[in-house]
Amino acid sequence: MHVSDSLVIGAGQAGLSASYHLRRLGLDHVVLDADPDPGGAWRHRWDSLTMDDVHGVADLPDSAAPGRGGDRANAVIPDWFGDYERAHDLPVLRPVRVDRVESVGDLLVVRAGDRSWTTRTLVNATGTWTQPFVPYYPGGDTFRGEQLHTVDYPGPEHFEGKRVLVVGGGASAVQFLGELAPRTDVLWVTRREPVWREEWDAQAGRDAIALVEKRVRAGLPPASVVSVTGLGLRPQEQEAARLGVYDARRPMFARIEPDGVRWSDGSFEPVDVILWATGFRPAVSHLAPLRLRSTHGGIPLLSIGKDVQTAVTAAADPRVQLVGYGPSASTIGGNRAGRAAAIAVLRYLREQEQAAA
Ligand code: FAD
Repeated sequence: MHVSDSLVIGAGQAGLSASYHLRRLGLDHVVLDADPDPGGAWRHRWDSLTMDDVHGVADLPDSAAPGRGGDRANAVIPDWFGDYERAHDLPVLRPVRVDRVESVGDLLVVRAGDRSWTTRTLVNATGTWTQPFVPYYPGGDTFRGEQLHTVDYPGPEHFEGKRVLVVGGGASAVQFLGELAPRTDVLWVTRREPVWREEWDAQAGRDAIALVEKRVRAGLPPASVVSVTGLGLRPQEQEAARLGVYDARRPMFARIEPDGVRWSDGSFEPVDVILWATGFRPAVSHLAPLRLRSTHGGIPLLSIGKDVQTAVTAAADPRVQLVGYGPSASTIGGNRAGRAAAIAVLRYLREQEQAAA
């Protein structure tokens, strides 16, 4: 039986960065990815999202991110990832969807259908795209119109002539309103009052990441980065702003009815479509047998020391690193976390060797 030094689950930005650094450190590993082709979550993003629309994609180690422009992000970034995998000869196997990871003595067994891999350590880089979150509201199943989540967004043409309710206080909701308001009738609801940011600089970015990291260290479920950074309007959203859709935002409705939504004060709005831009949850159910969660519901992570401060190591099991989780759930964060995870894997393996000697 072959036992690898490590195994990476997921070949998005975080998984590719981890694989690059594992290879550089001379660690034997494989990357298992559920998708049929390269690109991570980017290959599933909607066609109208261009490289000018993305908020900014960080470089991969040793490879500059593609520039801005009008080309589709769901083509440009997958092409870049594919070239990167080939250029660095990264050991990606696909399509392989991992079902569960089990601890067997000192080793971890990673299972996908009837296939399995045995490894000393694991880097989990499965992102969130496969876990869209839709909150429960009474009456949801009685709605006669269409309900879509961000993962289903078909582009603005689909909504023409329809009255669309966009739900959610994150960057995706702001972006959808920006695209839809100039073409059709839209309404916006959010659970909390949106926090608009005036200024954004590198220090504000570091402060935001530090806040999410604090939650994760405490074992709380990770907050979305927007919940700590605030929202901004870009040139693409100015027309919608001029039309007043962001100012006309309402608090959440109380229930869904067959032809629309009703608030607790009795007011009613007829709508044809509910677009749930309500975010995602970490795709970590395959790790459940390892019992990594705290009683607060999150997976607490630790950093391995002063020299590598990004928190990636599961507090409950130092064999397991989570990258692209919580504070590292962005392209820049995933990139840094990949490096931290490879170093943590190397240290863990060395400590084991020393303990055995
Ligand atoms: P992903 O890119 O999601 O990759 C995860 C990989 O794991 C996928 O290939 C998937 O197939 C695989 N996988 C999942 N489950 C399994 C399994 N069980 N077995 C095997 N493989 C599995 N961040 C930015 O920095 N800039 C932006 O402009 C930006 N825009 C965004 C726009 C949207 C709409 C969203 C939702 C997020 C955006 N983000 C952005 C956040 C950013 O996309 C992510 O943080 C980052 O790209 C995620 O990279 P990742 O490697 O963690 O995960």
